[in-house]
Amino acid sequence: MGQRLPLFLDLRGRRVVVVGAGAVAARRTARLRTAGAYVVVVATVVRDAVDADEVHERAFAATDLDGAWLALACTDVAEVNEAVAAAARERGIWCARADDAESSDAWLPAAAAVDEIDVAVTAGGDPKRAVAIRDGIARGLRDGSLHARRGRRSAGRVVLVGGGPGDPGLLTLRGYRELLAADVVVVDRLAPTALLDELDGDVEIVDVGKDPRGPAASQDTINALLVDRASAGKTVVRLKGGDPFVLGRGSEEVAACLAAGVPVDVVPGVTSATAAATLAGVPLTERGTAQEFTVASGHVPPGDPRSTVDWARLGAGDGTLVLLMAVANLRAIAAALVDAGRDASTPTVIVANASMPNQRVVRTTLQSLADDVDREQIEPPAVVIIGAVAGPSV
Ligand code: SAH
Repeated sequence: MGQRLPLFLDLRGRRVVVVGAGAVAARRTARLRTAGAYVVVVATVVRDAVDADEVHERAFAATDLDGAWLALACTDVAEVNEAVAAAARERGIWCARADDAESSDAWLPAAAAVDEIDVAVTAGGDPKRAVAIRDGIARGLRDGSLHARRGRRSAGRVVLVGGGPGDPGLLTLRGYRELLAADVVVVDRLAPTALLDELDGDVEIVDVGKDPRGPAASQDTINALLVDRASAGKTVVRLKGGDPFVLGRGSEEVAACLAAGVPVDVVPGVTSATAAATLAGVPLTERGTAQEFTVASGHVPPGDPRSTVDWARLGAGDGTLVLLMAVANLRAIAAALVDAGRDASTPTVIVANASMPNQRVVRTTLQSLADDVDREQIEPPAVVIIGAVAGPSV
């Protein structure tokens, strides 16, 4: 065909009449409601609940189309659909017939929306084929195999993307799409850096790697960088390890952007706090064993004035503990927990480089934890899980 004009209609608040109340009518009514239309359904028999603004259980009359912008003829009686089409023509409005593509003045395409991209497909009046093509395009957009970066005319923005624990497969699809659309990527050491090689050659990549043993960019420098590039009109992805808001200072980056008037979004990520345990086969909760888990940072030892963690409280309970950034302080932390009442023989699992090819899992107990970390030469990044759930499963 190719002689029809594709068109995206703004139907918000506008009257649209659907004639029929079967499965096709129900699907189309739902689509119209999503588009914000004022939907009027007319059908001789209405069996199921119909989500419409008005439902009239009676025969169609041409005057039903008075004041309407669009009509959808969805009955299984050709004469009725023809009558709807004729009434629409008389009034100079469009009618899409579900039964007969050839004689339908308007076609409703198979449609999908992925982020701000709308896809609409017709296939010469073959709806099944249109749906299959639509699904293929939507899948490509979702998984990033079909992508194009935004034109530079758009205003700059920052997106904090939670990258997960390091395996590119654990980045969310939305995070991946944001990454592919970026002009600038500001990346951490613990983010899934393997993905950066696949980005277009002109994407600026800034490594602010927070190596605990080496120099790293200060938070102020990172914040200033995000604001600077976005203010120049760039789409900036701040690719972070795990989830941006779990011990990741993501909220400070959001605040810096907002203070500078830069639009900012956050895409959640798979936090290493839970992923490390799951990858090591440790359930953080287990029916009958543990109904809670606490995630705490061990980057400063117990008793340090900079610590806000109540180690005595954590030691006194018996819920699962998940410690991040704790490798350097494990001896002091284990002692504080035992002092506060935790059994020294509590099962403990250390997971280093979770999800990466060099992932290591060490099983020990609270009292042997620090010695085993030394002996096994465990280095960050590592997650430590303490509690009955870390023991052999029964
Ligand atoms: N926002 C991140 C945490 C940042 S703090 C998240 O949600 O995962 C950095 C700490 O995270 C590390 O010291 C380590 O304890 C943990 N971590 C991050 N990635 C890890 C990985 N792949 N394996 C083990 N621990 C990891």
